[in-house]
Amino acid sequence: MLRFAPSPTDDMHIGNLRVALFNYICSRQREEPLLIRIEDTDKERNIPGKEEEIFAILALFGIEYQEQQFQSNNLRFHRAMALQLLQDKKAFNCFCTPETLEAKREASKEGKIAYHYDGACENLYAEEVIDNPLPFTIRLKKPDHSITVTDIIKGESVFASDEIDSFVLLNTDKSPTYNFACAVDDMLADVSLIIRSEDHLSDTPKQIAIHEALGYTKKVEYAHLPLIIGDDTISVKWLLEEGYLPDAITNYLILIENKTPIEIFDLKEAIKWFDLHTLSKDPAHFDIDKLKFINREHLSGLDPKELSRYVGFADEEIGNLAKLFLEEASTLKELRAKIGAIFAPKIVPDEYKEGFDVLRDLTRKAPHFDDYESYKAYLMEHSGLKEENLLKPLRLLLSGAEHGPEMNDLYTHIKNFIKEVAK
Ligand code: GLU
Repeated sequence: MLRFAPSPTDDMHIGNLRVALFNYICSRQREEPLLIRIEDTDKERNIPGKEEEIFAILALFGIEYQEQQFQSNNLRFHRAMALQLLQDKKAFNCFCTPETLEAKREASKEGKIAYHYDGACENLYAEEVIDNPLPFTIRLKKPDHSITVTDIIKGESVFASDEIDSFVLLNTDKSPTYNFACAVDDMLADVSLIIRSEDHLSDTPKQIAIHEALGYTKKVEYAHLPLIIGDDTISVKWLLEEGYLPDAITNYLILIENKTPIEIFDLKEAIKWFDLHTLSKDPAHFDIDKLKFINREHLSGLDPKELSRYVGFADEEIGNLAKLFLEEASTLKELRAKIGAIFAPKIVPDEYKEGFDVLRDLTRKAPHFDDYESYKAYLMEHSGLKEENLLKPLRLLLSGAEHGPEMNDLYTHIKNFIKEVAK
């Protein structure tokens, strides 16, 4: 089993989507199921509706999964496991108040020594625990050995027992901490490979310590993905609104800081050759120009009818027309603006106004011309305009812009709508 475990606390960012994509690809390659676990135990930070957004994005990107869970439904397992750890003396009740802990933390800071839990409640007598009316947390006893995390991308990292520390498993309200819920849920789901972002690397020894304390011996593999710098400002929703295709975003996220056999591909192809081992250890920088280039490549590869639908029409010719603008436009939003300008009432600078009106009226009355040269010859003959005086207002009439693709190409794709363009 592989799993993608998003928190419904924020918009989905490209870093999260990358984690989801890599989990999906590896689940396919290993022929293991994929679990989507919504980590919704942090009630204060949950944002209503975010989980639906997450599922919608997964569907849009073709990320199929076999199981779906809400972590808050597993609370009874978290509590049962905490109880077992208490009984096995692998965990203990801690009555230290937040104020006491904070004071000790401050003292360490002043003494310039790293703060560690001082074991104040680790060896209380049973009566001291049972008779104590104060709220308590449950802490795991820190391991008596260091823990080595072997990561497919980062190699080995060794964490000393003090670094892992006696950390909290259950809060005073009996809710699990992130590390505890995650370690228990991964164990219960029999997860074999955990792919997640690098900011969780320091959590991994804690989660391994929990597995060890619970007597869970399965060798779980880990891959912590380097961060994408700038990711926190780039939500998937925003990219989609800007008109980047899911296929292009997928292509970009698989390509960056990776060695891929080709530059432009889709998810299905990537499943054939993707290898976590070829990913760089270094963080990637989000590069919008590269994404634009990839988006253009995917847009130009689209079936014209499909592209036409994306820009708000249902005509193959409009799809071909849109492709003409891929030199200057990189996103669907930009393409929609270009195509929209062709059919919208035109704003004409004063210097071209006269010529524009003449050409527009002529075009409205003109017979159908199959090729641009005949259409142009007709306009020249009836307007008396030529060269710049003809071409500048004509371009405005046909495209709503002063610059753009070759007129000949433009005409080829709009000739069947010419009356509408000149309306
Ligand atoms: N819920 C965590 C997050 O969104 C995921 C942690 C994990 O994959 O273990 O960052």
